[in-house]
Amino acid sequence: AKQTGRNCFRFFTSSLQEHANTLMEMEQDLRLALDQNQLEVFYQPLVRTLSGKITGVEALLRWRHPTRGMIPPDQFIPLAEDTGLIGPIGLWILETTCRQVKAWRDQGHQLYLSVNISGRQRDLGLDAESLQQILHNTELPADQLVLEITEGMLLDDSDETIVWLRAFKDLGVHLAIDDFGTGYSSLSYLKRFPIDTLKIDREFIRDLTLDNEDALLVEAIISMAHSLKLRLIAEGVETAEQRCILYQLGCGYLQGFHFARPMPAIELQDWLVSYSP
Ligand code: C2E
Ligand code: CA
Ligand code: CA
Ligand code: CA
Repeated sequence: AKQTGRNCFRFFTSSLQEHANTLMEMEQDLRLALDQNQLEVFYQPLVRTLSGKITGVEALLRWRHPTRGMIPPDQFIPLAEDTGLIGPIGLWILETTCRQVKAWRDQGHQLYLSVNISGRQRDLGLDAESLQQILHNTELPADQLVLEITEGMLLDDSDETIVWLRAFKDLGVHLAIDDFGTGYSSLSYLKRFPIDTLKIDREFIRDLTLDNEDALLVEAIISMAHSLKLRLIAEGVETAEQRCILYQLGCGYLQGFHFARPMPAIELQDWLVSYSP
Protein backbone atom coordinates (compact mmCIF):
# COMPACT_ATOMS: atom_id res chain seq x y z
CA ALA A 1 0.00 0.00 0.00
CA LYS A 2 2.92 2.29 0.90
CA GLN A 3 4.45 1.59 -2.46
CA THR A 4 1.27 2.55 -4.24
CA GLY A 5 0.96 5.66 -2.11
CA ARG A 6 4.40 6.84 -3.06
CA ASN A 7 3.75 6.16 -6.74
CA CYS A 8 0.51 8.02 -6.54
CA PHE A 9 2.25 10.98 -4.96
CA ARG A 10 4.94 11.02 -7.57
CA PHE A 11 2.39 10.75 -10.33
CA PHE A 12 0.37 13.52 -8.74
CA THR A 13 3.24 16.01 -8.48
CA SER A 14 4.49 15.38 -11.97
CA SER A 15 1.03 15.83 -13.44
CA LEU A 16 0.53 19.04 -11.44
CA GLN A 17 3.83 20.26 -12.82
CA GLU A 18 2.74 19.34 -16.31
CA HIS A 19 -0.52 21.13 -15.78
CA ALA A 20 1.30 24.29 -14.68
CA ASN A 21 3.57 24.10 -17.70
CA THR A 22 0.65 23.67 -20.04
CA LEU A 23 -1.08 26.69 -18.51
CA MET A 24 2.02 28.84 -18.91
CA GLU A 25 2.40 27.71 -22.49
CA MET A 26 -1.28 28.37 -23.15
CA GLU A 27 -0.94 31.85 -21.70
CA GLN A 28 2.01 32.68 -23.96
CA ASP A 29 0.14 31.26 -26.93
CA LEU A 30 -3.03 33.17 -26.11
CA ARG A 31 -1.09 36.43 -26.05
CA LEU A 32 -0.19 35.78 -29.69
CA ALA A 33 -3.52 34.34 -30.77
CA LEU A 34 -5.27 37.62 -31.44
CA ASP A 35 -2.40 39.14 -33.44
CA GLN A 36 -1.92 35.96 -35.43
CA ASN A 37 -5.59 35.68 -36.39
CA GLN A 38 -6.07 32.37 -34.58
CA LEU A 39 -9.31 33.44 -32.96
CA GLU A 40 -12.47 32.87 -34.91
CA VAL A 41 -16.11 33.49 -34.15
CA PHE A 42 -18.72 30.82 -34.87
CA TYR A 43 -22.41 31.70 -35.13
CA GLN A 44 -25.40 29.69 -33.99
CA PRO A 45 -28.96 30.55 -35.12
CA LEU A 46 -31.70 31.56 -32.66
CA VAL A 47 -35.15 30.67 -33.96
CA ARG A 48 -38.83 31.23 -33.27
CA THR A 49 -40.36 28.14 -31.68
CA LEU A 50 -43.46 27.89 -33.82
CA SER A 51 -42.35 29.03 -37.26
CA GLY A 52 -38.72 27.94 -36.98
CA LYS A 53 -37.78 31.29 -38.54
CA ILE A 54 -34.34 32.60 -37.65
CA THR A 55 -34.39 35.78 -35.58
CA GLY A 56 -30.79 36.12 -34.47
CA VAL A 57 -27.38 34.54 -34.01
CA GLU A 58 -25.22 33.96 -30.96
CA ALA A 59 -21.51 34.58 -31.40
CA LEU A 60 -19.35 31.79 -29.93
CA LEU A 61 -15.59 32.10 -29.80
CA ARG A 62 -13.14 29.45 -31.04
CA TRP A 63 -9.35 29.25 -30.97
CA ARG A 64 -7.61 27.56 -33.88
CA HIS A 65 -4.39 26.70 -32.09
CA PRO A 66 -1.47 26.01 -34.47
CA THR A 67 -0.54 22.68 -32.81
CA ARG A 68 -3.38 21.80 -30.41
CA GLY A 69 -6.15 22.20 -32.97
CA MET A 70 -9.51 23.77 -32.26
CA ILE A 71 -9.81 24.75 -28.58
CA PRO A 72 -13.34 25.33 -27.21
CA PRO A 73 -14.03 28.54 -25.25
CA ASP A 74 -14.53 26.79 -21.89
CA GLN A 75 -10.86 25.83 -22.09
CA PHE A 76 -9.37 29.28 -22.62
CA ILE A 77 -11.85 31.99 -21.61
CA PRO A 78 -11.10 31.51 -17.89
CA LEU A 79 -7.42 31.98 -18.75
CA ALA A 80 -8.25 35.06 -20.83
CA GLU A 81 -10.13 36.43 -17.81
CA ASP A 82 -7.31 35.69 -15.34
CA THR A 83 -4.68 37.30 -17.54
CA GLY A 84 -6.77 40.30 -18.58
CA LEU A 85 -6.53 39.24 -22.22
CA ILE A 86 -10.34 39.08 -22.27
CA GLY A 87 -10.18 42.91 -22.54
CA PRO A 88 -8.71 43.20 -26.05
CA ILE A 89 -10.20 39.87 -27.13
CA GLY A 90 -13.69 40.95 -26.03
CA LEU A 91 -13.49 44.23 -27.93
CA TRP A 92 -12.26 42.37 -31.01
CA ILE A 93 -15.22 39.95 -30.79
CA LEU A 94 -17.70 42.81 -30.60
CA GLU A 95 -16.18 44.69 -33.51
CA THR A 96 -15.90 41.56 -35.68
CA THR A 97 -19.40 40.26 -34.99
CA CYS A 98 -21.18 43.62 -35.26
CA ARG A 99 -19.55 44.10 -38.66
CA GLN A 100 -20.49 40.58 -39.79
CA VAL A 101 -24.11 40.82 -38.72
CA LYS A 102 -24.46 44.26 -40.28
CA ALA A 103 -23.24 42.71 -43.56
CA TRP A 104 -25.81 39.88 -43.30
CA ARG A 105 -28.55 42.39 -42.59
CA ASP A 106 -27.50 44.35 -45.66
CA GLN A 107 -27.91 41.13 -47.65
CA GLY A 108 -31.52 40.99 -46.51
CA HIS A 109 -31.28 38.63 -43.51
CA GLN A 110 -33.28 40.11 -40.67
CA LEU A 111 -31.23 39.02 -37.69
CA TYR A 112 -29.88 40.38 -34.47
CA LEU A 113 -26.57 39.63 -32.76
CA SER A 114 -26.12 38.13 -29.31
CA VAL A 115 -22.64 38.30 -27.74
CA ASN A 116 -21.37 36.81 -24.47
CA ILE A 117 -19.56 39.23 -22.23
CA SER A 118 -17.52 38.59 -19.12
CA GLY A 119 -17.73 40.64 -15.92
CA ARG A 120 -13.97 41.13 -16.10
CA GLN A 121 -14.47 43.30 -19.19
CA ARG A 122 -15.88 46.04 -16.96
CA ASP A 123 -12.36 47.02 -15.93
CA LEU A 124 -10.80 46.10 -19.24
CA GLY A 125 -12.02 48.61 -21.77
CA LEU A 126 -15.65 47.69 -22.34
CA ASP A 127 -17.93 50.60 -21.48
CA ALA A 128 -20.71 52.59 -23.09
CA GLU A 129 -18.21 54.80 -24.87
CA SER A 130 -16.20 51.99 -26.48
CA LEU A 131 -19.36 50.09 -27.36
CA GLN A 132 -20.90 53.16 -28.96
CA GLN A 133 -17.72 53.59 -30.98
CA ILE A 134 -17.97 49.99 -32.20
CA LEU A 135 -21.63 50.41 -33.14
CA HIS A 136 -20.74 53.61 -34.96
CA ASN A 137 -17.81 52.00 -36.83
CA THR A 138 -19.76 48.94 -37.87
CA GLU A 139 -23.14 50.65 -38.40
CA LEU A 140 -25.03 47.90 -36.58
CA PRO A 141 -28.16 49.46 -35.02
CA ALA A 142 -27.84 49.37 -31.21
CA ASP A 143 -31.20 47.65 -30.81
CA GLN A 144 -29.91 44.71 -32.89
CA LEU A 145 -27.27 43.87 -30.28
CA VAL A 146 -27.86 41.73 -27.19
CA LEU A 147 -25.19 41.32 -24.52
CA GLU A 148 -25.40 37.99 -22.67
CA ILE A 149 -24.37 38.13 -19.04
CA THR A 150 -24.47 35.50 -16.30
CA GLU A 151 -26.37 35.51 -13.03
CA GLY A 152 -23.10 35.43 -11.15
CA MET A 153 -22.13 38.78 -12.61
CA LEU A 154 -25.19 40.41 -11.12
CA LEU A 155 -24.39 39.28 -7.62
CA ASP A 156 -20.88 40.39 -7.00
CA ASP A 157 -20.54 44.08 -6.49
CA SER A 158 -23.94 44.80 -7.88
CA ASP A 159 -24.17 48.60 -7.65
CA GLU A 160 -21.22 49.15 -9.94
CA THR A 161 -22.48 46.42 -12.23
CA ILE A 162 -25.92 48.06 -12.46
CA VAL A 163 -24.36 51.37 -13.45
CA TRP A 164 -22.16 49.61 -16.02
CA LEU A 165 -25.04 47.69 -17.58
CA ARG A 166 -27.47 50.58 -17.48
CA ALA A 167 -25.12 52.62 -19.64
CA PHE A 168 -25.41 49.92 -22.33
CA LYS A 169 -29.19 50.00 -22.04
CA ASP A 170 -29.08 53.77 -22.50
CA LEU A 171 -27.40 53.18 -25.88
CA GLY A 172 -30.38 51.02 -26.87
CA VAL A 173 -28.56 47.70 -26.53
CA HIS A 174 -30.47 44.76 -24.98
CA LEU A 175 -29.36 42.49 -22.15
CA ALA A 176 -29.93 38.78 -21.65
CA ILE A 177 -29.25 36.49 -18.71
CA ASP A 178 -27.41 33.41 -19.86
CA ASP A 179 -27.62 29.92 -18.31
CA PHE A 180 -30.67 31.04 -16.36
CA GLY A 181 -31.56 28.76 -13.46
CA THR A 182 -28.07 27.46 -12.75
CA GLY A 183 -26.92 30.37 -10.60
CA TYR A 184 -28.51 31.74 -7.48
CA SER A 185 -31.99 31.17 -6.23
CA SER A 186 -32.73 34.81 -5.46
CA LEU A 187 -34.67 36.23 -8.35
CA SER A 188 -34.94 39.71 -6.85
CA TYR A 189 -32.19 40.92 -9.12
CA LEU A 190 -34.51 40.51 -12.08
CA LYS A 191 -36.38 43.57 -10.90
CA ARG A 192 -33.29 45.67 -10.25
CA PHE A 193 -31.43 44.95 -13.48
CA PRO A 194 -32.49 46.16 -16.89
CA ILE A 195 -32.89 42.68 -18.39
CA ASP A 196 -34.84 41.92 -21.59
CA THR A 197 -34.28 38.20 -22.14
CA LEU A 198 -33.74 35.00 -20.17
CA LYS A 199 -31.93 32.04 -21.67
CA ILE A 200 -32.99 28.83 -19.91
CA ASP A 201 -29.95 26.65 -19.37
CA ARG A 202 -29.51 23.47 -21.38
CA GLU A 203 -29.51 21.47 -18.14
CA PHE A 204 -33.29 21.93 -17.85
CA ILE A 205 -33.93 21.08 -21.48
CA ARG A 206 -31.85 17.91 -21.74
CA ASP A 207 -34.22 15.48 -20.05
CA LEU A 208 -37.39 17.39 -20.78
CA THR A 209 -40.55 15.32 -21.14
CA LEU A 210 -44.04 16.60 -20.50
CA ASP A 211 -44.48 14.91 -17.14
CA ASN A 212 -41.16 15.36 -15.34
CA GLU A 213 -39.84 17.90 -12.83
CA ASP A 214 -37.82 19.75 -15.43
CA ALA A 215 -41.05 20.54 -17.27
CA LEU A 216 -42.53 22.00 -14.07
CA LEU A 217 -39.41 24.11 -13.55
CA VAL A 218 -39.36 25.30 -17.13
CA GLU A 219 -43.06 26.10 -16.92
CA ALA A 220 -42.48 28.15 -13.76
CA ILE A 221 -39.62 30.04 -15.38
CA ILE A 222 -41.76 30.72 -18.44
CA SER A 223 -44.71 32.08 -16.50
CA MET A 224 -42.42 34.27 -14.41
CA ALA A 225 -40.75 35.57 -17.58
CA HIS A 226 -44.14 36.32 -19.09
CA SER A 227 -45.27 38.29 -16.07
CA LEU A 228 -42.02 40.27 -16.10
CA LYS A 229 -42.41 40.74 -19.88
CA LEU A 230 -39.11 39.06 -20.64
CA ARG A 231 -38.29 37.23 -23.83
CA LEU A 232 -37.43 33.56 -23.33
CA ILE A 233 -34.93 31.41 -25.18
CA ALA A 234 -34.40 27.72 -24.43
CA GLU A 235 -30.82 26.54 -24.99
CA GLY A 236 -29.64 23.13 -26.06
CA VAL A 237 -32.72 22.02 -28.00
CA GLU A 238 -31.63 18.85 -29.76
CA THR A 239 -34.86 17.06 -30.70
CA ALA A 240 -38.24 17.71 -32.31
CA GLU A 241 -39.85 16.37 -29.15
CA GLN A 242 -38.13 19.00 -26.97
CA ARG A 243 -39.22 21.66 -29.42
CA CYS A 244 -42.80 20.43 -29.26
CA ILE A 245 -42.86 20.45 -25.45
CA LEU A 246 -41.27 23.90 -25.28
CA TYR A 247 -43.92 25.13 -27.68
CA GLN A 248 -46.64 23.71 -25.46
CA LEU A 249 -45.05 25.31 -22.40
CA GLY A 250 -45.06 28.69 -24.15
CA CYS A 251 -41.35 29.26 -24.77
CA GLY A 252 -41.06 31.71 -27.67
CA TYR A 253 -37.51 31.13 -28.90
CA LEU A 254 -35.12 28.21 -29.22
CA GLN A 255 -31.45 27.49 -29.82
CA GLY A 256 -29.78 24.16 -30.33
CA PHE A 257 -28.39 21.42 -32.52
CA HIS A 258 -31.94 20.49 -33.61
CA PHE A 259 -31.80 23.60 -35.81
CA ALA A 260 -28.10 24.16 -36.32
CA ARG A 261 -24.71 23.89 -34.66
CA PRO A 262 -22.47 26.91 -34.26
CA MET A 263 -20.75 27.48 -37.64
CA PRO A 264 -18.03 29.64 -39.15
CA ALA A 265 -19.40 32.84 -40.74
CA ILE A 266 -18.94 31.54 -44.25
CA GLU A 267 -20.95 28.39 -43.52
CA LEU A 268 -23.71 30.26 -41.77
CA GLN A 269 -24.03 32.45 -44.82
CA ASP A 270 -24.82 29.40 -47.00
CA TRP A 271 -27.07 28.00 -44.30
CA LEU A 272 -29.10 31.23 -44.20
CA VAL A 273 -29.69 31.03 -47.92
CA SER A 274 -30.69 27.35 -48.02
CA TYR A 275 -32.64 27.17 -44.74
CA SER A 276 -36.37 26.86 -45.01
CA PRO A 277 -38.13 26.36 -41.70
P1 C2E B 1 -23.02 29.51 -23.62
O1 C2E B 1 -23.02 30.99 -23.76
O2 C2E B 1 -24.02 28.90 -22.71
O3 C2E B 1 -23.12 28.98 -25.10
C1 C2E B 1 -23.90 27.88 -25.48
C2 C2E B 1 -23.04 26.65 -25.59
O4 C2E B 1 -23.89 25.53 -25.82
C3 C2E B 1 -22.08 26.70 -26.78
O5 C2E B 1 -20.89 26.02 -26.40
C4 C2E B 1 -22.84 25.91 -27.84
O6 C2E B 1 -22.01 25.31 -28.82
C5 C2E B 1 -23.51 24.86 -26.99
N1 C2E B 1 -24.73 24.35 -27.62
C6 C2E B 1 -25.61 25.00 -28.40
N2 C2E B 1 -26.66 24.21 -28.75
C7 C2E B 1 -26.43 23.02 -28.16
C8 C2E B 1 -27.16 21.76 -28.17
O7 C2E B 1 -28.22 21.61 -28.75
N3 C2E B 1 -26.61 20.75 -27.44
C9 C2E B 1 -25.43 20.90 -26.77
N4 C2E B 1 -24.96 19.84 -26.11
N5 C2E B 1 -24.72 22.06 -26.75
C10 C2E B 1 -25.23 23.11 -27.44
P2 C2E B 1 -19.45 26.65 -26.70
O8 C2E B 1 -19.47 27.34 -28.03
O9 C2E B 1 -18.45 25.58 -26.45
O10 C2E B 1 -19.31 27.78 -25.61
C11 C2E B 1 -19.17 27.46 -24.25
C12 C2E B 1 -19.22 28.67 -23.38
O11 C2E B 1 -18.10 29.52 -23.56
C13 C2E B 1 -20.42 29.58 -23.68
O12 C2E B 1 -21.58 29.01 -23.10
C14 C2E B 1 -19.98 30.87 -23.05
O13 C2E B 1 -20.20 30.85 -21.66
C15 C2E B 1 -18.48 30.85 -23.31
N6 C2E B 1 -18.19 31.70 -24.48
C16 C2E B 1 -18.26 31.39 -25.79
N7 C2E B 1 -17.93 32.44 -26.56
C17 C2E B 1 -17.66 33.47 -25.70
C18 C2E B 1 -17.25 34.83 -25.87
O14 C2E B 1 -17.10 35.36 -26.99
N8 C2E B 1 -17.03 35.57 -24.73
C19 C2E B 1 -17.21 35.03 -23.49
N9 C2E B 1 -16.98 35.83 -22.41
N10 C2E B 1 -17.60 33.77 -23.29
C20 C2E B 1 -17.83 32.98 -24.38
CA1 CA C 1 -24.43 32.51 -24.18
CA1 CA D 1 -25.97 29.63 -22.13
CA1 CA E 1 -23.59 27.42 -20.77
